[in-house]
Amino acid sequence: MDSVLHYADEHVFDALYAKLIPTSMAANATSEFAINWTRDNVLRQSLSIFIMVTLGGWFFYLAMASFSYYFVFDHETMDHPKFLKNQVRLEIECAVSAIPGFSLLTVPWFVGEVNGHSMLYDGVPQDLKGWLYLVASVPTFLFFTDFGIYWAHRWLHHPLLYKRLHKPHHKWIVPSPFASHAFHPVDGYMQSVPYHLYAYLVPMHKWLYVFMFVFVNFWTVMIHDGNFISHSHIINTTAHHAVHHLYFNYNYGQYFTLWDRLGNSHRQPTDEQYDANLRNDQKVMAKQARDAELIEAQDELKAKKKAQ
Ligand SMILES: [Zn+2]
Ligand SMILES: [Zn+2]
Repeated sequence: MDSVLHYADEHVFDALYAKLIPTSMAANATSEFAINWTRDNVLRQSLSIFIMVTLGGWFFYLAMASFSYYFVFDHETMDHPKFLKNQVRLEIECAVSAIPGFSLLTVPWFVGEVNGHSMLYDGVPQDLKGWLYLVASVPTFLFFTDFGIYWAHRWLHHPLLYKRLHKPHHKWIVPSPFASHAFHPVDGYMQSVPYHLYAYLVPMHKWLYVFMFVFVNFWTVMIHDGNFISHSHIINTTAHHAVHHLYFNYNYGQYFTLWDRLGNSHRQPTDEQYDANLRNDQKVMAKQARDAELIEAQDELKAKKKAQ
């Protein structure tokens, strides 16, 4: 984030803030605000990062989800009885309004990074060991964050949190790629904490971290794109996440099925996901809709009993 902020300061924010702060104020030596509004001012850093993360979030979300919607997503999915009227518009509205709140919660992590409090490092690796460490950072990052997201997601399904925080993301029983970031801001934030935590606990190259951040967003869109190419039992595929949206209490993982297997929440997708003819069969869809309603009703009843 420090290099990104430095670039943005150079090309946008220096000029923008100079324009926004009245010249009379900037020239006034007694004006604390004008004097301190320099690149190392934490408030200025926070505002700049908030603007960047919000604009970047909107851009990546709309670009990736649009691409997936037009080129990858199986549009027959929209005939499912659980695909809501105007769902795509509702998903976009939900995501676009969630991203600023989500960005705001994320700002302290990035401000800490910019001021050197994380374990992110810079520079070209000097020897084979350095290169091997760089390569090994990818699986360790995925392994660590998958573990964190599994538990964050599983807790978000706890009756105490579900209704308030995670239910908005489960409004989409049959999601489109635009459902990827359509969540409550605190829900999205809770599931992003493992990424930030990793950067504060384990040394990682900063450009690899940026790359992984983009990849994570790409993956999040991909597991909602309704295109079930992979039949893997190890990777948490689009089909696995489709099962999660249909039947709620399975497949909480993000990248792998490992934690779901250990946590007894794994449910391998079937031909109802993999076979396009079966998947788009009216009778199969109607049965899925009934099953989803039944599970949702049972979960609500359980939550009510717990609250009593
Ligand atoms: Zn969920
Ligand atoms: Zn989802």
